[in-house]
Parts: sequence; C-alpha cells; structure tokens
Amino acid sequence: MKIGLAVGHSRLGDQGAYTTGDYVLSEWDFNRDMVRRIAHVLNVDHRIYDTYPAKSYTGGINYLSRKLIEDDIDAVIELHFNSASPSAKGHEWLYWHTSKGGEKLASTLRDEMEQSYPEMVSRGIKPRGPKQRGSYLLRKVRPVAVIAEPFFGSNEEEWRMINNNRGRLAGVYARAIKNYAEG
Ligand SMILES: [Zn+2]
Repeated sequence: MKIGLAVGHSRLGDQGAYTTGDYVLSEWDFNRDMVRRIAHVLNVDHRIYDTYPAKSYTGGINYLSRKLIEDDIDAVIELHFNSASPSAKGHEWLYWHTSKGGEKLASTLRDEMEQSYPEMVSRGIKPRGPKQRGSYLLRKVRPVAVIAEPFFGSNEEEWRMINNNRGRLAGVYARAIKNYAEG
C-alpha cells in the first residue's frame, strides 16, 4: 500500500483560504507543514505532493492525477481546512459518492478524529457528486481519494486549538492511514 499526501492549493499562485485571528496562515502553508509532520511519524509507504506546476485548477488536478499513476499510489488524501462564517466549526471528510474505497478512507479519518478530538463537532463524511466543491479531484484521480477538512480556519477558537498542537492532528492522519492500510 502506497499513500499520497497532497497539499491542497499546490498549483501556481494558489494559497487557498487564510486563517483568522492573531496568527494568519494559508491552507497551503499550514498543510505543507502538516504533511511533513505526518510523514515523520508514518510507517506506511508514502509520497508528498506539494507543487502542481499548472496555472488552472483543472490543470493542477490533471497533473496530480498523472503523478499518482506514475508513482503507483493506492490512496490519496488532499489536505485542506474549511472556511466559512466565524461561528462555523468541526471536521468533515469528502469522497466521491460512488467510491467504496473513498467512503472507507473518509470513515477511518473521521473515526480517528472523533477519538482524538472528542470536544470537536463531527460533521461526518460527505459524498460528493458532479459540480460540487472538490468533485473534480475526487472524480478525476484513479486511486482512492479523500479531501480532508479537519477544522475551520475561519473560526478563531478552533484554529488556535489546532495550531497550538499540530502534532495531535498529524497523529490523527498517521493513525488513520495506518488503520486504512492494514484494514
Ligand atoms: Zn482548500
């Protein structure tokens, strides 16, 4: 089993959303650090993707899609964080609606997150169909794929809690990947 750790918004000129509060970071900056933390504690074969040399969103995903095949990746997680109103909170895990593997990987991540962050709102796993947010990546790539949205960067309290212990979140990803790879 070989896992892809993809940093969301890795195409040229895209940083994704920014966090709120005293310490402002983009999705790309935060998750580029996060994949390194995960890789550091992960005992499953993996590859990191943090640069998509393309100018358009679809170009970026097409690039990633080719690389995942070249590298023989079985499952990929693209890391993001959510952004909405200041009061929105919780974690959610997106997968392509007909993908059994995607549903399984998303469930494994949700379970691990619920165990490690019992104080957080679990928004659960979310099937995605055509034209929904993130659907192009989930539909396009050949391996099992999940888009991870483990917190809201737009929620000051939630962001502070996550940022104060990034290792805790990295541990969630690493344990979930191990469980998925062994299951
Ligand atoms: Zn994003």
